[in-house]
Amino acid sequence: MTTSFTDIPHPEQAFHQTEKIARRIKYESELDPKFGDKIATMAYGEKLFACIQCGTCSATCPLSHYMDYTPRKIIAMVRSGFRDEVLNSATIWLCASCYSCSVECPKGIKITDVMYALKREAMINNIIPKHIPTPVLAKEFFHQILAHGRNNEVQLITRFYLLTKPWKMLKKARIGFKLWRVGRLSFFEKGVKYKKLLHQYLTSVEQREEAH
Ligand code: SF4
Ligand code: SF4
Repeated sequence: MTTSFTDIPHPEQAFHQTEKIARRIKYESELDPKFGDKIATMAYGEKLFACIQCGTCSATCPLSHYMDYTPRKIIAMVRSGFRDEVLNSATIWLCASCYSCSVECPKGIKITDVMYALKREAMINNIIPKHIPTPVLAKEFFHQILAHGRNNEVQLITRFYLLTKPWKMLKKARIGFKLWRVGRLSFFEKGVKYKKLLHQYLTSVEQREEAH
């Protein structure tokens, strides 16, 4: 194959192309050496460091094909201190908490709990990947429980769409109406008896998590 003169980029264009090349390696000094210990403590995961990288968790995970990092990689990255990559990954939000990986892991590592710990850590640090709406749903759900002690689907879904993709709400309105007609959705707010007590309890847990 021959290269014609027109194939050679202009120096300015070449410079911009070079600028776009992202550095994919990390220096040790850029890692967070305490991250693994922190997540291990949050996820009852003292066994986290016993991972043999066999990949059983990734093989058994029904969603690993859609994840940016497989569960095996997530465990390796957590242990090595790749905090930013892990907390910004789609994987932690795609995990459906099916527990399949935790059941199959030969080292008894509670991978699902690790995923939960990572979600909590991401939310505490306000790390919400733009293309993943799940954290918005999780946050709104928590606020509903905090305020009323119970979830109201209409309020939850309305706020979720308003904060993510408002135009999609029109598409879903028909389904919502059908569900309301058969009594599966209610516009009325239903609280629990000891709302204040629950609020105090959840707030203290949240403060404790943030302090760690
Ligand atoms: S199944 Fe367990 S030991 Fe194997 S890679 Fe996954 S976490 Fe590590
Ligand atoms: S709990 Fe999450 S990571 Fe584990 S197999 Fe299920 S979806 Fe995959």
